Parts: sequence; C-alpha cells; structure tokens
Amino acid sequence: MRVTEIRQVAIYGKGGIGKSTTTQNLTAGLTELGKQVMVVGCDPKADSTRLLLGGLSQKTVLDTIRDLSEKVALEEIMKIGFGGTRCVESGGPEPGVGCAGRGIITSIGLLERLGAYTEDLDYVFYDVLGDVVCGGFAMPIREGKAKEIYIVASGEMMALYAANNIAKGIQRYATKGGVRLGGIICNSRMVDREEELLRAFAAEMGTQLIYFVPRDNIVQHAEIHRKTVIEYRNDSGQAQEYRNLAQKIEENKLFVIPKPMSQDRLEAILGEFGLMDDLKDQYQI
Ligand code: ADP
Ligand code: MG
Repeated sequence: MRVTEIRQVAIYGKGGIGKSTTTQNLTAGLTELGKQVMVVGCDPKADSTRLLLGGLSQKTVLDTIRDLSEKVALEEIMKIGFGGTRCVESGGPEPGVGCAGRGIITSIGLLERLGAYTEDLDYVFYDVLGDVVCGGFAMPIREGKAKEIYIVASGEMMALYAANNIAKGIQRYATKGGVRLGGIICNSRMVDREEELLRAFAAEMGTQLIYFVPRDNIVQHAEIHRKTVIEYRNDSGQAQEYRNLAQKIEENKLFVIPKPMSQDRLEAILGEFGLMDDLKDQYQI
C-alpha cells in the first residue's frame, strides 16, 4: 500500500511566461531524482509535453475522443517521454469556440476512468494557461485534485498583475477546499532588481519566491532540438538551475492560502521598483 499521496501540482501563469518550458525541465529534474511523474497539458495550444516527447506531436484527448468512436485506451492519450514521464495533452476547441477549458474537464475525467492515477506516481503536474483562474481552467484545483500550486511570473508588470489575479482565484478555491499556494517561480526576463521585486511581491502575498530561474539562450537551443535543457545539455548551468528547482519543490513545506493585493497596493510595490515610471514613459503620462 502506498504511504504517501500523489502530489498533484498545478502550474499557473500568464501566457508566454514560461510555464511549459519550466514545467518540462523541472519534471525532467524530478525524474533524475527517481520520481514518477505525469504531465497533463491544460492549454489548448497543446505544447506542454513537446520537449519531453522529443517533438512528437501528441494527439490531444479531445481530438482522440472526437476521432474514435470505439472505447479509448490509455495508451492513446498518454505517451511516455523523457525519463519515463507520462505525457497527456487535453487540447481545446478552436480559439473563440466554446469554453477553452472544456478539454481539461474531459481529460481529467477520462484519465480517472482509465486508471491513469496509479499508485506508483509521485507527481502529477497540470500546466494551465491563463491570467485568471476560471471555468475549465480552475478544474485542476477544484474538488481537491491538485492541492499544490506554483505561479510562474517575472518582474514584468503584466506578469505580476496576472499572478495577483491568479492568487485571487486560488484564494477562492482554497477557502472552500484544500488547495494551497506553494510559491512563486520567477522565470527571469532580466528586469532590474527582479529577484528583489519578486521576493517583495511573494512576501506581500504571504508566500515565498521558491526559485529564480535565469534567462538563458540555451533554453531556445534545446527547444529547437525539441528537448528539455536537462536532456540537451545535462552538464550546463541552466540544467543545474532546473535541477535545483526540482529539489526545492521536492523539499517544499510552505503551503499557504495567498493574500492577493489590492490594485493600489500592487501598484505601490511596482512603483517602489520603478515599474510604474516605465509605464508613464510608455504612455507619456
Ligand atoms: P507558456 O507555457 O507560459 O506559454 P513557454 O514555456 O511556451 O510559455 O515559453 C515561452 C518561450 O519562452 C519559449 O519559446 C521558451 O523558449 C522561452 N523561455 C522560457 N523560459 C526561458 C528561460 N529561462 N530562458 C530563455 N528562454 C525561455
Ligand atoms: Mg505553455
């Protein structure tokens, strides 16, 4: 019998912030620690598992169900990637058609019915798009599926606005259920005093900056080769950064109900770091 529960983790953050890149590299790092991991892509873009699968285009759950009238087998929606990771892409309708989060609801239900949540799993990661937590995109954290959340952000203003909005959603679900914020992951955009800003932002929210991932072109090189940095250049500094992040998550003990900020408070913090000045310059106000 298993002694510990599967750690189900949802990764949220603004589009383009680096959720999929960070999730895949971090899970590659976890497999090096001997962990069994499933990654469920919850973005209609369906690019959450590309690097783990070596660019193999994974057919999404929604497309598989649409094309198969017969019963779907687990192997059809779950492919094995780097380090034995189990890779699933929920998919979604065409942009602008129906609820973009529908694929996630369908996928989690189907994975449950097909017995994908096996006892040997240590982690399930849900890579969820969005600036806000709503509708289908809230699914992974509703009803206590994922109990642990990390928000990927950077020192750019829009990333922090999104992180604050995501925290509002988490707070709502956390007061009803058991979901908690495990921290903010900074995926650096080389903003001045970025680490300090992210620490201040996290502290204000009652959470921690769990790791600062530097920006490095090796990430793009690895991506061109359809690989995680860990697979592409195992001995690189960036690979070690992702390994460190994996270790931090493995050892994390700080899980909180976040305290999102008022717009004024958020802007005051951004102001302390000179970000509002940039905005004023941009709009010449
Ligand atoms: P998201 O999943 O949040 O939409 P992605 O993971 O697809 O974002 O990342 C967007 C782009 O940013 C990718 O092309 C990726 O190569 C790049 N990127 C992500 N993290 C880093 C990093 N630490 N250093 C350099 N480039 C990065
Ligand atoms: Mg993504």
